[in-house]
Amino acid sequence: MADSELPHRPKPEAPEGAADAAPAEGAAGPSKSALKKLAKEKAKAEKAAARAAQEKAQAAAQEAADTAKGLYGPLPESEDVIPSVKFSGLTEDTHETEITVVARVDNARVQSAKLAFLMLRQQGQKVQAVIAAAEPISRQMVKWTGGVNVNSIVQVTGIVKKPEIPISSATLSDIEIHIRKIYMISEAAQMLPMQVKDAERPPPETTEEGQVDADGTPLVTLKTRLDNRVLDLQTETSQAITWISSGVTELFAEYMIKHGSRWIFTPKLVGTATEGGSGVFEIKYFKRKAFLAQSPQLYKQMCIAGDMESVFEIAPVFRAEDSNTHRHLTEFSGLDFEMTFRHHYHEVLDFAENLLVFILTQLQERYKDQIETIRKSYPKAGDFKLPKDGKALRLKYMEGLAMLKEAGVDVSEQERYENDFTTAMEKQLGRIIREKYDTDFYVLDKFPMAVRPFYTKPCPDDPTFSNSYDFFMRGEEIMSGAQRINDAKELEASMIAKGVDPNQEGFEDYLNAFRQGCSPHAGGGLGLNRIVMFFLGLPNVRLATLFPRDPQRLRP
Ligand code: ATP
Ligand code: MG
Repeated sequence: MADSELPHRPKPEAPEGAADAAPAEGAAGPSKSALKKLAKEKAKAEKAAARAAQEKAQAAAQEAADTAKGLYGPLPESEDVIPSVKFSGLTEDTHETEITVVARVDNARVQSAKLAFLMLRQQGQKVQAVIAAAEPISRQMVKWTGGVNVNSIVQVTGIVKKPEIPISSATLSDIEIHIRKIYMISEAAQMLPMQVKDAERPPPETTEEGQVDADGTPLVTLKTRLDNRVLDLQTETSQAITWISSGVTELFAEYMIKHGSRWIFTPKLVGTATEGGSGVFEIKYFKRKAFLAQSPQLYKQMCIAGDMESVFEIAPVFRAEDSNTHRHLTEFSGLDFEMTFRHHYHEVLDFAENLLVFILTQLQERYKDQIETIRKSYPKAGDFKLPKDGKALRLKYMEGLAMLKEAGVDVSEQERYENDFTTAMEKQLGRIIREKYDTDFYVLDKFPMAVRPFYTKPCPDDPTFSNSYDFFMRGEEIMSGAQRINDAKELEASMIAKGVDPNQEGFEDYLNAFRQGCSPHAGGGLGLNRIVMFFLGLPNVRLATLFPRDPQRLRP
């Protein structure tokens, strides 16, 4: 080693307190004991400096002798961009081949000076990697690898081997990557607010923090998980749930487009609270007030009046309801559709039923792996029952009411047609229907007019009821829809009957849409978050929502 490369010995710093001990000018000299102390401290500092220098020199020498130099550490600028392999592509065919993967470190463990293990994670899937010191891989490289902070993102190049014993803690238990190179792509902080693996299991039912289960594993509450949602999204379960969400919208759009429907985008900033004042968020809009849309209802219908025949939208829906339940959000993703029909609104209802049967059966087919993953944490995932003949079960509201009555439920209020079923009644009806018809998906048709909004078409033969329907999954509502009034005069009368002022600002444009003539039409509004929640049997709608908004939560 050239002299200039030798670490120079730093000047020992004056020990602390030395200045205080120095004799002040004109004062008497320091005492003998003070001098002795000073000398002792000086010697100590010199020794420490010498030791530090020696360690530095040793490290430099080691680095120079490191046979793995350039095979680990920061990603060298000269490193070519190698296509990285997805874990899902690591089949048996890849055994004994060299691959490069980019993944998070789920866990790092040093076994000995010569051996370390990494559990790598990619979109929730885990694969084990191992590094053993053997030329050119040095002990330093093993130590560095085993010391990588959990959750860091690394690029690993290695040989795929079949482990002698399957690795049960890995998703791909028949794969082990024998590391040849490892580079840091993005380093994680040393302390994580929550371990990703601890968020893999369902949250406890209570909100109390610091709980552990029988084997001492921390139970992470829903609050902690949602507060740290980015980490929570990294779990295998969350990854799979977000794929199901993506799948529902994909299938909805696919079916609509296949049937000639047009994808629309309606405003969410509106000038009028269209569907009742209490559930609407009021916002400042320059010098006036505006509102966040509670549904695209009026716009969907105006598109029909605009000769668009069949339209659909996937967009946020805002509800200013202080409902703190397992299924209510203040902002959710709405899947809406509206279409014309020729003779009877059941043409649209048939369509909507087939749409849902398509979405739910295709989810079971195309997202099998994700459902299987979710089932490990939420056992109800995968047991969703669909009608065997592929046709939705349709009952009349009154038939549902009769079934509840027969089961001994007090439905006297509902029999006066002024109140809809309560959540408890809906759930019970869901259980009765599952028992009797072996399905978790069904439709109730012909709701009482009194429980539906002003734009709903009453039943022509009995105006106590209406041409309206709700769809249910596991006994809870996922969609409301109806035939809409398409005659301007009838619409105006219905508004007045429901206590809605037709002269209120904003309704003029809506009513005008029908004054020029508009084909009979019907439609519906679905909640994406609820479909995902009930399809998978999740206990809370927030688990099926990326960044949930509820009366208590506006972050992250
Ligand atoms: P609920 O009776 O459950 O409060 P709703 O009848 O008020 O629902 P609609 O206005 O009919 O709801 O909305 C249509 C669909 O939108 C519902 O069937 C549901 O899937 C979804 N939805 C409605 N409100 C919410 C909410 N607060 N959070 C999540 N999804 C909702
Ligand atoms: Mg409803």
